[in-house]
Amino acid sequence: MAAFSQRLEAALAARREQDLYRRRLTLESAQGPIIRLDGREYLNFCSNDYLGLAAHPRLIEAFRRGAQEFGVGSGASHLVCGHSVPHRQLEEALAEFTGRPRALLFSSGYAANTGILTTLLQRGDQVFEDRLNHASLLDGGLHSGARFRRFPHNDVAALADRMTPVDGATLVAVDGVFSMDGDTAPLADLAKLCAERGAWLMVDDAHGFGVMGERGAGSTEAAGLGMNEVPILMGTLGKAMGTAGAFVAGSESLIEGLVQQARNYIYTTAQPPAIAAATLVALRLLQEESWRRGHLAALIERFRQGARQLDLPLMESRSAIQPLLVGGAGLAVALSERLREMGMLIGAIRPPTVPAGTSRLRITLSAAHSEHQVDRLLEQLSLCLEPSDCS
Ligand SMILES: *Cc1c(COP(=O)(O)O)cnc(C)c1O
Repeated sequence: MAAFSQRLEAALAARREQDLYRRRLTLESAQGPIIRLDGREYLNFCSNDYLGLAAHPRLIEAFRRGAQEFGVGSGASHLVCGHSVPHRQLEEALAEFTGRPRALLFSSGYAANTGILTTLLQRGDQVFEDRLNHASLLDGGLHSGARFRRFPHNDVAALADRMTPVDGATLVAVDGVFSMDGDTAPLADLAKLCAERGAWLMVDDAHGFGVMGERGAGSTEAAGLGMNEVPILMGTLGKAMGTAGAFVAGSESLIEGLVQQARNYIYTTAQPPAIAAATLVALRLLQEESWRRGHLAALIERFRQGARQLDLPLMESRSAIQPLLVGGAGLAVALSERLREMGMLIGAIRPPTVPAGTSRLRITLSAAHSEHQVDRLLEQLSLCLEPSDCS
């Protein structure tokens, strides 16, 4: 027993020393542009609630009604008796919206990615992943039994070089929008390469779904790619959709194969039906209220212009994720704490989430923010990023 305690305590001490110790915030309010924490209100620039739907009255109402009719817990896994009408309706709506024959709900994006990759891949196959892919895609690839290979971020030529034929099948998996950088994958080029080499392309669109594309259908829509080019489309529901869970959309055989074989799907309790009921309404709002995407795009532009004028260390991102590259973990934490004192909540992202030396302030914008709030953010950043002011 002592061995475990010693190991844990040593690891904790090391994290503290390297400024990598993480603390959880405890919110005292709903998610939104202004949140309460320790009895104080903060302007919130660190949630993934990109469309401002997480506490939308219509979602709350749908959630309440869903709970009234279907109860709180689903009571079982999908294959036993936990699959109910809202789950089925949401799967059908997601399939239609993404233009694919079928969609399948998972309880989280992490479960979806690891489930898809470990089910689809086997020994003799190979899987290529962008170095900056989300941890869940990397973990799924690593545990899949296939030969696991990373390629340099967004480098299609390097991928092409590495993509030598194997006996089995080849899969390329990327984030549509990279979660800590905010830039987008070169999906059209990746799709072309995959077509040439007979590989399948999988896109994790956690940060693109609901935000990118003409109708908000995500990065694949923005790139003009359908199911032939991207046979596996995965999206999460806890970000722009404002609820929880994830889905994968694709062919009949892909979806039915996952239903029958994905252990992460089979051996877990179905998400509460009321969540699916609320997500259905989010999907409707997404389509009816395109002004949310328009407003968000305008805020992104406003932020980038302002930040350029202030010479802030912007990264190459057109998405709602607008990180400022800081470098050291200690400095990132100090800046984040300083901003917190000023009433702004912005996360410091450090290793192992990002490579050493690339710690950053990860600013996320939402359609729920006002122009005035973005201007205040810029003002505070300019004060805080004055070196004399903040070390
Ligand atoms: C958030 C995220 C996930 C995980 O989704 P959860 O539903 O939060 O488990 C997967 N991939 C990417 C790119 C993400 O940003």
